[in-house]
Amino acid sequence: MKPTKPMSRRSFLIAGAGALPALWLTRVRADAAHLSESDPAAVAVGYTENAAKVDKKKFPNYAADQTCANCSLFQGKSTDAWGGCTLFGDKLVAGRGWCSSWTNM
Ligand code: SF4
Repeated sequence: MKPTKPMSRRSFLIAGAGALPALWLTRVRADAAHLSESDPAAVAVGYTENAAKVDKKKFPNYAADQTCANCSLFQGKSTDAWGGCTLFGDKLVAGRGWCSSWTNM
């Protein structure tokens, strides 16, 4: 096995330039708009920013421990206050929110 060469200055700069778009995209996500509860797509699935306010008569499948932060469609960490959701494209949902599409699959 050949010993690995140290990274050349050119390779280092190219690798660094490749990482910049990823950093930029991360920043855009954090600055993305929050999903409004009145957004028609949000209304369609009963989205709320606070799972404690779920209408349990209207959504009998809701369980008290369900939040966006522990939903399989949440695109953030379980401790994030806001994160992406595969249902809502470039808008962020509240980590303590909920909607009727909640899933743990
Ligand atoms: S699908 Fe999951 S993460 Fe997205 S809004 Fe509904 S409960 Fe929250």
